[in-house]
Amino acid sequence: MARPAPPPRRRVLRAEDFYQPPPDQPADAWALIPPAERVVAWYERQAQRRLPRPPDGVDLGGPPLYAQINHGRWIAVCDQCNSAQLVSPADPRLYCVECLTPAWRRVRFPKDPAAAEAAVSELPTAERNWWHPHDEAAWNRPPAELPREGDPR
Ligand SMILES: [Zn+2]
Repeated sequence: MARPAPPPRRRVLRAEDFYQPPPDQPADAWALIPPAERVVAWYERQAQRRLPRPPDGVDLGGPPLYAQINHGRWIAVCDQCNSAQLVSPADPRLYCVECLTPAWRRVRFPKDPAAAEAAVSELPTAERNWWHPHDEAAWNRPPAELPREGDPR
């Protein structure tokens, strides 16, 4: 008897995977919303109130926030209020919907996000974690995960 097929690899969730329109809207209703801005639409729907938006084209200056894979999701943590939200390498910006940062923040991803995703793809969800090699201040980074010599990250 043939062995059952292994379960499909689970992708690391990105902002555009998680922040989806509600069931009463077409699945592609947010297709034209850039991934980093989908959190605003999602949050407004959940909170049932409008949020202010940072101006378009605002300077993305300031120190970048580092993306990390946390339990199979790309997230970034706001350095003003410590809340986290899903982010995407396809649109590496963050506007914090909790403390309403006055400008878009730059989110630093690895040069090869797919390689980081592949590195954790076979692990159980709780162990699917990855940190940027320069992100040594991440609150949840265990010492064993600090970068090692020759690490391709
Ligand atoms: Zn914040």
